[in-house]
Amino acid sequence: MSAQQPYSFFHSVEQSFDKAAKFTKWDPGILEQIKACNAVYQIRFPIKRDDGSIEVIEAYRVQHSQHKSPCKGGIRFSDEVNQDEVMALASLMTYKCAIVNVPFGGAKGGLKINPRSYSTYELEKITRRYTSELVKKNFIGPGIDVPAPDYGTGEREMAWIVDTYQSLKPGEIDSAGCVTGKPVSLGGVRGRKEATGLGVFYGIREVCNMHEVMHGMGLPVGVEGKTIVVQGLGNVGYHTAKFFREHGSKVIALAEYEGAIYSADGLNEEEVFQHRKKTGSILNFPGATNLAKNTDALELECDILIPAALENVINAENAPRIKAKIIGEAANGPCTPEADEIFTKKRILCVPDMYLNAGGVTVSYFEWLKNLSHVRYGRLEKRFTENLNTHILAQIEGLTGKQVSDQERAFIKHGPDEVDLVYSGLEETMSAATREIMDIWHSNPEIPDMRTAAYVSAINKVATIYAELGIFP
Ligand code: GLU
Repeated sequence: MSAQQPYSFFHSVEQSFDKAAKFTKWDPGILEQIKACNAVYQIRFPIKRDDGSIEVIEAYRVQHSQHKSPCKGGIRFSDEVNQDEVMALASLMTYKCAIVNVPFGGAKGGLKINPRSYSTYELEKITRRYTSELVKKNFIGPGIDVPAPDYGTGEREMAWIVDTYQSLKPGEIDSAGCVTGKPVSLGGVRGRKEATGLGVFYGIREVCNMHEVMHGMGLPVGVEGKTIVVQGLGNVGYHTAKFFREHGSKVIALAEYEGAIYSADGLNEEEVFQHRKKTGSILNFPGATNLAKNTDALELECDILIPAALENVINAENAPRIKAKIIGEAANGPCTPEADEIFTKKRILCVPDMYLNAGGVTVSYFEWLKNLSHVRYGRLEKRFTENLNTHILAQIEGLTGKQVSDQERAFIKHGPDEVDLVYSGLEETMSAATREIMDIWHSNPEIPDMRTAAYVSAINKVATIYAELGIFP
């Protein structure tokens, strides 16, 4: 594709895939099969608006891969939605799940609507109708395809989806597992809401704790004191900013679609969020400076830049002006392949989306397992662990004649709650994936960037399954 042709997100994903495929040994047929979207369901349905007018809604569900079942991926509400975008996002889900060893194929859904232009009642009608269209074609179910939140959707929409599904499939014992990201009262798991942001934090922290990587970039080890710029104050951006701030980093700028704000002293995401709720904008936040354009925030001097909104925000045009040392792709596809080339030359480390933002789907996996097992995490072992820890501590204190502080006692005694297990499972997943990708990258000096290393990891994992199935001798 020449630079003149319109941007295709799916083509960008294919380009990154091809760049990495060269570093693998797989048959071209296997690689073709992995790249292709297996099923593209394009839907149109009418809804009656509150004013009585009829509107036709454009919607999609794409199942990129069934090498593992079910397929998994969010549902996006945005007026930018189109088939190309949903195909790209579904592909990324396959690679993402493979990298973090979550046993799902990739999928994605999208509805071409701006949720801010609809009433709650209209959004409910649209979500329920979309769900019933998926049910009709067998495009949803705990063993088939399991949606989740994405840009423009959240717990509320997932609640409507599970309720619609259950009303159409009465008596299906595992039906709560038809969608993840649900409210806890409807079978959700504690920790899912903040999971993507927390995963971004764990992934970047792991990179920042790698001495050789930090020394190579002339940066001190650790996240403490690092300056951060976050683009997007939705669920992902908000929680990413929160976890960095809580661990001693300084969030010096935040950007939303109406503009961006800067403060050298650091911003508190919750205060900015409340200010936006009150005034309708992040601009004019007390103590901060307004930036002329929201995209100006991307070009600020900082240690870590976190694009946490939409795709294609850092491209051939603005990549040369990026001054961050590390880019953490919290969104899907924020940097184009052309931007990657520029980062390699400028020695900017881009930590790629398809594993960095995998925290969401990782905890979705935990939620799905919870739904299939019909029991809350920690329910069986919490009291047992607490009794055992109390006993061990009493023995140690008896033998040593010394007593630990009350604070230490509470910490040692504590048996795991659901959220403790979810956080530790996520931390382990993100740390292991970071190390695995870094090892692939550093094992071959020809691999130009971390994204390519991540794709190599994903391709190897998916191709191994096809090869072991014997489909491709
Ligand atoms: N929409 C999120 C993503 O892009 C989460 C998907 C899921 O949990 O299935 O990774």
